[in-house]
Amino acid sequence: MELIINDLCKTYKNGYVKALNNFSAELTPGVYGLLGPNGAGKSTLMNIITDNLNADSGEVLFDGKNIKRLGKDYRSVLGYMPQQQGLYDDFTANRFLWYMAALKGLKKKEAKGKIPRLLETVNLTSAAHKKLGSFSGGMKQRVLIAQALLNDPKILILDEPTAGLDPKERIRIRNFISTIAKDKIVILATHVVSDVEFIAKEIILLKDGELLEKDTCHNLLKAIEDKVFEITSLSCDLAKIQASYRVSNIYRDDENIISRVVADDPPEEYKYQCVKPTLEDLYLYYFE
Ligand code: ADP
Ligand code: MG
Repeated sequence: MELIINDLCKTYKNGYVKALNNFSAELTPGVYGLLGPNGAGKSTLMNIITDNLNADSGEVLFDGKNIKRLGKDYRSVLGYMPQQQGLYDDFTANRFLWYMAALKGLKKKEAKGKIPRLLETVNLTSAAHKKLGSFSGGMKQRVLIAQALLNDPKILILDEPTAGLDPKERIRIRNFISTIAKDKIVILATHVVSDVEFIAKEIILLKDGELLEKDTCHNLLKAIEDKVFEITSLSCDLAKIQASYRVSNIYRDDENIISRVVADDPPEEYKYQCVKPTLEDLYLYYFE
């Protein structure tokens, strides 16, 4: 199974920037972390991949066939959790899933079997008959993931599924996505590094509508392994360091200040040591 994205370009009618600029990628089963700052084009890309938005040019092929031509056949293998989605506060979780199942054209018998299982998977069985209005952020996100899974999608598109969640809920959702990802192409958009750091087969770095890199976390970090430094200085130097470097962390060690910086060249004017990069350093390197 593969999803091939060829040369997508998109400029919104009222927009003056290219939301997507010649974006191409080949995807096979596994989790892809789509990482980029706000406005990078993540949602635009996902809306085009899910055929909710037309690109100006370019194409998306599912197993060699243009998704435009596949139409309904494509939709039936697709699960999508959009970034902004309203929930009906008066619906219970159970009713909401029944409603979504009807919209997706599931047969009653199918829905009857599937909905309780999905509620179980997203750990909401005990809350199934509570109103969505009373749900926490994490519970709402889990209901939205559940609706995206109603049709057993082969392609699962999740647009910022952990937005607004506390760390515990974030971890829970992350682990959950990891367990359901088998045999699916999962694309998970986020601007939060830790959402994808451990579960993504590959990370796709998107900036200003352009693909910067697409590679394993390991390889991406390897590429910047000589670009992260810890500078030991007096606190009076801090302002100068911050003005000349991208600083990813600062901490105090006795009377010294340790600044973690990301730079192409070593900060020779200070006492420094080269340190092992993290994905946060990578984010800073590409996006700040
Ligand atoms: P992301 O999801 O990475 O935050 P988006 O795809 O939402 O990025 O946005 C990419 C660019 O397209 C931004 O410059 C944004 O302002 C613009 N944009 C997004 N949606 C619209 C729209 N409906 N109309 C006009 N411009 C838009
Ligand atoms: Mg977005």
